[in-house]
Amino acid sequence: MNEQDTPTTSQQASSAQVSSAIDTKLTFADVYKNSIDNPSHFWAEQAKRIYWHKEPEQILDDSNLPFTQWFVGGETNLCYNCVDRHLEDLAEQDAFIWLSSEINQELMETYPNVEQAFSDLGNNVEFYTDYTKRRLTYNDLYKEVNYFADVLQRHGIGKGDRVIIYMPMILEAAYAMLACTRIGAIHSVVFGGFAAHNLAIRMDDAEAKMLITVDAGLRGGKVINYKNLVNQGVEQAIHKPNHVLVVSRGILPFEAQPIDVDYATERRISCQANAIVDPVWLESNEPSYLLYTSGTTGTPKGVQRDTGGHAVALTTSIDYIYDGKAGETFWTISDIGWAAGHSYTIYAPLLAGMSSVMYEGLPHRPNPGIWWRIVEANKVNILFTAPTGVRMLKKQDETWMTRYDVSSIKSFFLAGEPLDDSTANWLSKHLGVPILDHYWQTESGWPILCHTPKFDHKPHKKGSPGYPMYGYNAHIINEETGEPCAAGEKGLLAISAPLPPGCLTTVWQNDKRFVSSYFNLFNGKEYSTSDYAVADEDGYFYILGRTDDVINVAGHRIGTQEIEEAISTHPEMIECAVVGIHDELKGELPIAFCVIKDHSLTESTESRFRLEQQVIGAVVKSLGGIARPAAVYFPQALPKTRSGKILRRAIRALAENKPTGDMSTLDNPPAIDAVKQSMKDY
Ligand code: AMP
Repeated sequence: MNEQDTPTTSQQASSAQVSSAIDTKLTFADVYKNSIDNPSHFWAEQAKRIYWHKEPEQILDDSNLPFTQWFVGGETNLCYNCVDRHLEDLAEQDAFIWLSSEINQELMETYPNVEQAFSDLGNNVEFYTDYTKRRLTYNDLYKEVNYFADVLQRHGIGKGDRVIIYMPMILEAAYAMLACTRIGAIHSVVFGGFAAHNLAIRMDDAEAKMLITVDAGLRGGKVINYKNLVNQGVEQAIHKPNHVLVVSRGILPFEAQPIDVDYATERRISCQANAIVDPVWLESNEPSYLLYTSGTTGTPKGVQRDTGGHAVALTTSIDYIYDGKAGETFWTISDIGWAAGHSYTIYAPLLAGMSSVMYEGLPHRPNPGIWWRIVEANKVNILFTAPTGVRMLKKQDETWMTRYDVSSIKSFFLAGEPLDDSTANWLSKHLGVPILDHYWQTESGWPILCHTPKFDHKPHKKGSPGYPMYGYNAHIINEETGEPCAAGEKGLLAISAPLPPGCLTTVWQNDKRFVSSYFNLFNGKEYSTSDYAVADEDGYFYILGRTDDVINVAGHRIGTQEIEEAISTHPEMIECAVVGIHDELKGELPIAFCVIKDHSLTESTESRFRLEQQVIGAVVKSLGGIARPAAVYFPQALPKTRSGKILRRAIRALAENKPTGDMSTLDNPPAIDAVKQSMKDY
């Protein structure tokens, strides 16, 4: 069957439902000034965009910076705002359009149990030659989220409990997230590409009471055995969950463990009982979720998001930044394991009454036209992804893009890594719509820098992700003195406290780390993004790269120290350094320099190859394929400072064949040649 879809947005939300009486004729400069000069007034207006069970008593409490509280005393519920609130006007509009190019008609022979599993889960899917699809109205979503919440409650999950979600891009992952927020449980989604070790660290740090997973996922046709990884993770974790709730997709048979609970069986019970679970009203500052992100140490940080501020910030951003409207279709091509997936696949489009596309699949499978076919079939209006996916398509036959009617697209946003001109030009040539680079972080949860097509048309400058968004008092400061940098002068991109609503409120169970990681500059009132930047005369910012040892692979942040720790588990290892080098497709790739006990092992090609594979294997086992080193070198020494710090900056320069810069702090000059030699040996 070949799909000829028509748009499903039969009903438009009443504008009063998703936006307040905000004057959109304002210039962006007015909006920005108001947000900085009078944040309480500005955000009080924006707060009208969501439903409050109890109105906030105080809009901003900045009496204990850098800890900021927004909408103090207000009570709301994220899930209620995403789902229940739309039942009156949008019940039959699609909330999600789920598509999987990993599962299609032809694969039904390979996976004979998949069809039954869909039906056991109440998933009314349509199979096509190239993908499987399910449209889910707000009404359907309401039912499914209530069943899921009921299953959680019946298994002892309640307000404040932590729940790890380790799932691919399937609808049940969205239900799980929304069900958690409905009952006040705190979810922590772990990216499916991470390995058992990552999972165990997060289970321990969050002290999770439940873990939700699947039997398996599919990526590029390859089966990923989630259940097995979960079993290993649970075994490694010190704090073990009481239950593992398994959504079986019928892809891979598995042996149930004593703590396993089958979701389809439990859902049936809730469905038969027509279970409805009342939303739990949370004080605005109570946490909605944790999302772990890499830092400079080996232990990831649990970025903690609040409830009311998060809902207000995301709803406002759909209007002011993305210029999205209820009834339109938003497609963020990202995994739910990342902040973009949280904010712009799940929460923001639903908060705004839009239809959100959720896609399981790669950009070029079954062919490089798949994105554009999905756009055509579902009349997607706003797209958002990381440049890497686009670069992948750019390498393919260009005509794929012209085979489909993509005229529904009004803008295409990119973030997560620098957007190069050639990728931006390629998209703009073919789509003829604004290609908008924007900059944000897991911590901010929504854009810090952007261009704002909704307001007066400030020109779009290539190479710049834009200017500071309303609410962000962002500026570039001298790293040493804290003084503001002049136009054209490189410095640290910092944001003065208070951070606007929606940004992280702390690091989970670690206020000290929140302060030391983000607010350790000068007066403790400047949030450090850990990015270098420069601004031009017109106030447009340009990102110049990280200030720390964090690298960005295909838009995903990875701490080099995490990789080094994985490599150090190899019995031959004395020490190692991992640096990121430029890569055309993925932006950056990690490469490892390892000093081993018996250097003679690198003399024969076979034993060096074996060692290299072992090092790569240790990283993949511990951190997953995303952190796989692109190359492993074995120098006899690493360059160090007199205080014993490895000079990664110099190693990176050598790896990229660039000048090493100031080497006055170098303690062991021969190490430079050792590093060079190791790359020659390769
Ligand atoms: P993450 O928290 O994983 O989304 O990573 C955030 C980091 O990605 C930022 O601190 C930047 O280093 C980088 N980043 C995000 N967006 C952009 C962008 N538009 N241009 C350049 N770098 C970006």
